[in-house]
Amino acid sequence: MSTHICDALIVACIDFRFQKYIQNWLTKKFKNKTYDYVGFAGSTKNLDIIMNQLDISVRLHHIKQVILIHHEDCGAYGKESTHDRHAKDLKKAEKLINKKYPDLKVDLYYLHLDGEFEEIK
Ligand SMILES: [Zn+2]
Repeated sequence: MSTHICDALIVACIDFRFQKYIQNWLTKKFKNKTYDYVGFAGSTKNLDIIMNQLDISVRLHHIKQVILIHHEDCGAYGKESTHDRHAKDLKKAEKLINKKYPDLKVDLYYLHLDGEFEEIK
């Protein structure tokens, strides 16, 4: 088996309304880079599943960076889909990832309905 590595893992929600925004954004941001992609309802809402996918990406492709994208009006969160809740869950995921993989760079984004990517610090 050959070794094939990539730069990053992208995690985002399945919601079709945001896929074009995400693709365009990634095309610019990762112009000369490669990435694995996980699409899962609610993005990191189910952290166990996302951590499992991350483990595989780390093991197989030796990624250096993780980009977590949550979005406005997320059906997986329903009434709990507030900016604060998404920011909180993104930070929770970042913390867990960095606990297990301290060398991974984790970037967090909240994607608005109009396609604006807001970085969560
Ligand atoms: Zn969603």
